Amino acid sequence: MDYDCIVIGGGHAGIEASLAVSRLGFSCLLITQNPDCIGALSCNPAVGGLSKGNIVREVDALGGEMAKLIDKCMIQYRVLNRSRGPAVQAPRAQADKEAYSAAARSAVESQKGLTIFMDTVTDLITSELSGVSSVQGVATARGHRISSNTVILSAGTFLEGKIFIGEYDAPQGRLGEEAAFGLGNNLRRLGFKVGRLKTGTPARVAGNTVDYSVMEKQEGEEPAAFSFDSEQFAILPQLPCWITFTRSETHRIIRENIHRSPLYGGKIKGTGARYCPSIEDKVMRFPDRNRHHVFIEPEGLYTNEVYLNGLPSSLPEDVQVKFINSIKGLENAAIVRPGYAVEYDYINPLDLYPSLESKRLSGFFSAGQTNGSSGYEEAAAQGLIAGINAVQKMRGQPPLVLGRADAYMGVLVDDLTTLGAEEPYRMFTSRAEHRLILRHDTADTRLLPRARELGLISDDRFERFKKKIEGLDAIQELIKLNKIKRPEQIEDLLTIDSNFSQWPREWLERVILDMKYSGYIEKEKRIAAKLEKADAVKLSPETDYTSISGLSAEAKEKLNTVKPLTLGQAARIPGIRQGDIALLTIHSRRRH
Ligand SMILES: Cc1cc2nc3c(=O)[nH]c(=O)nc-3n(C[C@H](O)[C@H](O)[C@H](O)COP(=O)(O)OP(=O)(O)OC[C@H]3O[C@@H](n4cnc5c(N)ncnc54)[C@H](O)[C@@H]3O)c2cc1C
Repeated sequence: MDYDCIVIGGGHAGIEASLAVSRLGFSCLLITQNPDCIGALSCNPAVGGLSKGNIVREVDALGGEMAKLIDKCMIQYRVLNRSRGPAVQAPRAQADKEAYSAAARSAVESQKGLTIFMDTVTDLITSELSGVSSVQGVATARGHRISSNTVILSAGTFLEGKIFIGEYDAPQGRLGEEAAFGLGNNLRRLGFKVGRLKTGTPARVAGNTVDYSVMEKQEGEEPAAFSFDSEQFAILPQLPCWITFTRSETHRIIRENIHRSPLYGGKIKGTGARYCPSIEDKVMRFPDRNRHHVFIEPEGLYTNEVYLNGLPSSLPEDVQVKFINSIKGLENAAIVRPGYAVEYDYINPLDLYPSLESKRLSGFFSAGQTNGSSGYEEAAAQGLIAGINAVQKMRGQPPLVLGRADAYMGVLVDDLTTLGAEEPYRMFTSRAEHRLILRHDTADTRLLPRARELGLISDDRFERFKKKIEGLDAIQELIKLNKIKRPEQIEDLLTIDSNFSQWPREWLERVILDMKYSGYIEKEKRIAAKLEKADAVKLSPETDYTSISGLSAEAKEKLNTVKPLTLGQAARIPGIRQGDIALLTIHSRRRH
């Protein structure tokens, strides 16, 4: 074999997958259409946010790269929902887009055992032995045939990608970047359930044509690191964001031109995300609202372009100019890049096991937007899981499957592989049942020991982690001794008691939160433990559910589609009832 593993696509999923494979000692080839675009932030120049910030910290604790990348290039940092409970707080940072991409490229280029190659994969090479299909390598647009028993697909929005701006359309994966042709249809021929999804992005305008004086300024907070291993933290100059609003005139222009929208005109067939609507969707769906928020976000320190958050659109460019210029402060804004929609092929994630390995093609893994998700963080999380599990398979070890109480990453993979994705899937705090356990500040204790077992955490880093745990224990004693109940009390104590000031503030806050919410946390842990019992009951992926009498026709069909690996996963399939679970319990007992 030429390589132990091939990763297709150098986006956020591909970066994590290829780094994990090579860090774990296996040779890896990252084939990507354009190495200049490694780690490109296709849409919003920001990383983190509600639940996504938690994912970034989880990726870091599990030995991934994303947190370290954003730590190197943040130009504004904030903790969202500061005024609300800790379960729903999360860090978010604006990124210098160029710096982010450069840091990502440097991370993969400097990784031992990782080779980068510029080409487009058009076909998977497969073989069939005793009825089992497995991947044997890839074929590329320039005619290369490269062999490997393990392939990870992370093609983002590029498979048969097509972009739309009003009447204009073009075969591209992002504006200005060619689509990846061939592989989507190859996957269809191999029997994968391949569908079409769509997403969209707003225009970028020249910052020096924006009138900030009439907008509300939004400053960031004191920057803090996403990575728990924050030695590499470098603070760049910080920039503000700005807030303005659409007006009734904006809405009138959009309504009058809605027939020219490729979405409303029926040109776009792929399903878009309800929660991330275009401005034309918002205007048409909520006719009673006379204004919508627009956040003006810097794209970087050395570019004049700014991002118009809240205004994704695929309306024609002349309409985009008109509605943007109708907004307060944007009257003279000059568009540098128009907003657009992109439609692309994706694999139904029900085709995948929770390891992210394909059910129909052994050795083939898939991660990121190709699995029906949306978002950099969701992609990075899946890339890391797919990379780890590709290695586990090569090692002959069981896959890493995180539970819903272990991590947002567990919720993400479980949702995708149990519920499928009819529309682009994005993480929300509300998708997690155990939010207090999944706080962003606890990601290291939840995941770092597992990453250490897998081999992704160095001795030095693990020593630092152990010291932190000892520190947290010591703080807990100190807090009990001083009868402290509220995080706000730290401020006073820091000034009067040196026993406190010797510890990092983040650690102090964490212990106080743990103590303050201990009752709720214990309750969540008890519920999670009950659910874990159901996840401990294994079901065979070979089971033919049509042969189990008593199951409803709907249950048989759904169970045969998902092929759940545990009783817990079976119970989470919509439409599976208590009675079906009772039958499956009996069936699994008999099998053992
Ligand atoms: C227009 C647009 C709007 C978006 N809007 C949002 C949003 O509002 N919110 C949000 O959270 N996310 C949004 N996203 C999604 C976000 O960009 C993605 O979720 C994220 O980048 C996915 O990461 P990925 O690694 O899966 O794929 P990508 O970052 O897309 O990377 C895929 C990489 O694979 C390469 N590639 C693809 N096919 C092949 C092949 N066959 N051979 C070799 N290389 C290949 C591509 O060149 C690319 O470099 C948007 C994306 C786009 C394009």
